[in-house]
Amino acid sequence: MDNVTRREFTKLGALGLAAQAMPAAVAQAQQADARTGYAVIGLGRIADHFLRATRDSKTSRVTGLVSGHRDKALRIAAEYGVPESAVYSYEDMDRMKDNQQIQAVYVALPNSMHAEYTLRSAKAGKHVLCEKPMAISVAECEAMIGACKAANVKLMIAYRCQYDPLHLKAIQLIRDGNIGTLNVIQGAFGGPQPVGEWRITKKLGGGGSLMDLGIYPLNASRYLAGEEPVEFKAFTSTNDHDGRFNEVEENITWTMRFPSGVLANCTSSYGAHMPGYFKVAGSKGWIEMAPAYNYDGMRLRASYRNADGHSEEIDETSPDKDPIEFVRQMDHFTTCIRQNQTPHTPGEEGLRDMEHMKAIYKSAGIDIL
Ligand code: NDP
Repeated sequence: MDNVTRREFTKLGALGLAAQAMPAAVAQAQQADARTGYAVIGLGRIADHFLRATRDSKTSRVTGLVSGHRDKALRIAAEYGVPESAVYSYEDMDRMKDNQQIQAVYVALPNSMHAEYTLRSAKAGKHVLCEKPMAISVAECEAMIGACKAANVKLMIAYRCQYDPLHLKAIQLIRDGNIGTLNVIQGAFGGPQPVGEWRITKKLGGGGSLMDLGIYPLNASRYLAGEEPVEFKAFTSTNDHDGRFNEVEENITWTMRFPSGVLANCTSSYGAHMPGYFKVAGSKGWIEMAPAYNYDGMRLRASYRNADGHSEEIDETSPDKDPIEFVRQMDHFTTCIRQNQTPHTPGEEGLRDMEHMKAIYKSAGIDIL
């Protein structure tokens, strides 16, 4: 869509007319647009971040929507220039196989729905960018990888922090040896969940705070250490005996040992307000990111001795606007699709976290995943 069309379309959207007026002019503009088209499946909170990021992407756009709420979907379609014919329900989304304007999907559904919609999207011939956690069991993750391979489509897990400049800088500082030999990693993330939230149901969440929030420090510990943990010790607890945590854990804390000897100590909670962070300490210095997993305002600090023996201090904050990592994430996946490359965070990355979460739960006496 060129700028004039986009402006006109926004005006129509405000009048609630865009979806009706779409067919001729917009359908033509859509076909002329060379950006890779994504259908967003599940129009909730994270989908909104993805949708807004498409406005800043030069490679990717939204060309389809899948939702259980057609009124909401049509409103969003009008806002983003998606033709009404590309607004699907969960029941009829398999029809998107005939829509050549949709090359990929973004699965932004509750955790237990990721596997089914990844499989159906792959069957429809669409590349899949799937939210974390990849699914709710190791077997589901393996099935998703297998289905995408069989359909010859790409699969990437939306570990947005791995596309964030400050996280990447932290990794580079470590790999360059600035903080010396790594010894200890600490990380946490927590936030209270209300009654009625799907996240605290086993059926939709799969597990509790570990699956949703603990996965951030787990994944961070792995990319900061640059190796896979081999041993786990974990504890869970429930402090709020108000019925919210009858099915899944409220608090979980665990320690992981990596082959090099690095010990990582992580916690997640659905009861405590706990801004996400990580700290990495080595023989020559330390790196801290706090907050680390927000959408904006992330802060990286580091202190270490450089090669000349002088002390270096870093203190950087990411811009206080909706984050660049959503744009970088979709641009990366689009590049992988176009150039037939393996994504930086493929299905196997999601599978590894699932295997580790299974081991963490097992150590806490919970036999799931
Ligand atoms: P929301 O509850 O805000 O949105 C989920 C959407 O899924 C709903 O709006 C709904 O869309 C659809 N849906 C379909 N069936 C159900 C159902 N039975 N119950 C609830 N929703 C349903 O969740 P989030 O956007 O916060 O989370 C979605 C996924 O994204 C999760 O896997 C989560 O872990 C992940 N996530 C990732 C983040 C990141 O930073 N990478 C941050 C937050 C979440 P509709 O009305 O259109 O049908």
